Amino acid sequence: MKNSNIEPVEISSINGNYFATFHSELGSLEEAIKTKVDSFILIDEQVSKTYQNLMTILPKERYFIVESNEENKSLSKVGEICNWLMNMEATKTSHLVAIGGGVIQDLSTFCSHIYYRGIKWSYVPTTLLSQADSCIGAKCALNLNGHKNQLGVVHTPSAVEIYSGFLKTLPFSEIQSGFGEIAKLAVTGESQFLNDFEQYLEKYEFSTDNIDPLIRSSLLAKKFVIDQDEYESDLRRILNYGHSFGHALEALTKNSVVHGDAVVVGMDLINYIGFKLGITSEDFHIEMTNLFKKYFHHIKISKLISPEIWVNELKHDKKMQHGKMHFAIPISTGDIRIYKMELDKDLINLVGEYIESSKYFHSA
Ligand code: NAD
Repeated sequence: MKNSNIEPVEISSINGNYFATFHSELGSLEEAIKTKVDSFILIDEQVSKTYQNLMTILPKERYFIVESNEENKSLSKVGEICNWLMNMEATKTSHLVAIGGGVIQDLSTFCSHIYYRGIKWSYVPTTLLSQADSCIGAKCALNLNGHKNQLGVVHTPSAVEIYSGFLKTLPFSEIQSGFGEIAKLAVTGESQFLNDFEQYLEKYEFSTDNIDPLIRSSLLAKKFVIDQDEYESDLRRILNYGHSFGHALEALTKNSVVHGDAVVVGMDLINYIGFKLGITSEDFHIEMTNLFKKYFHHIKISKLISPEIWVNELKHDKKMQHGKMHFAIPISTGDIRIYKMELDKDLINLVGEYIESSKYFHSA
């Protein structure tokens, strides 16, 4: 059954609008997948083992199972998947259905963009991060040479089918990671959403009870941005808030810090830098530091990460242009702007000050 209490979210795209639809039962999701004609399924290994029913929707040779990890967000895995599609005689009119978290989404977006110059794809997100954030927006990225998200394309899905029941089997650290990404959207959105987000955490903590309305609000905050700027020419850059330092942290810790946690630390750090440079308001800076401290105190990172190495890793970021980094820095809730900065000694000093004063960093 579709969840009639939760209205679908319609996303505008120059390639055709699509809907993120909420399901209250796995059965209704399976029905939605069955309607995709000439389908192939790319599925997360853990999800395939946990949800055996999903493995019976199509004949078994139509499934490609992938272990979701950062090593597999690679060109070689894309090659394997495209080879499989070709061996299976997938055509230009075939439809790739992706079932899994952000890793599966990134691989599916990339493969469906390049296979015969583009085939249709639909997405069934199974993690909190992917349900509340990444499932809309059509972007993807692969890692290269140990650096995060270096290659990418934009390829709009035909549909997104959300069943939050998947979250009941998601490891707790991944739930926390999802809340980290929602925190980012709560700050980029209207202040009401930030209030709702805090109220949810106050009431349910990191459980996922009654989470559909929060997921929907999170998608609406993202929709507000991507409806105007699907290809990230301008406004969409604000969604990178916390991500530059966050991605660098993921790469430097060899992904031992999960994505959402890295984004929380990235937001906290850029708020600190913004405040020190007179960009971010003191009230906002204090409010956010307290919010992160209250709900994300589980994050622990070794002080072995030096400020020089952290800043240096930013050179591999896509937002590095003409020798300057484009940082998304908040002034206050819902008001995030882009500032260009050199990766110089002053920045390194600020990052060093942050590491010394931050509760997230501890001696090895
Ligand atoms: P993930 O895909 O890395 O999966 C995390 C773990 O959870 C894996 O071990 C997976 O097997 C397991 N898992 C997934 N669903 C499960 C379920 N329902 N029950 C039990 N286990 C389950 O997690 P993620 O956080 O969704 O994705 C992170 C990736 O997404 C990063 O590589 C990040 O760069 C990328 N990302 C992409 C976008 C985008 O717009 N394309 C946006 C944000 C993040």
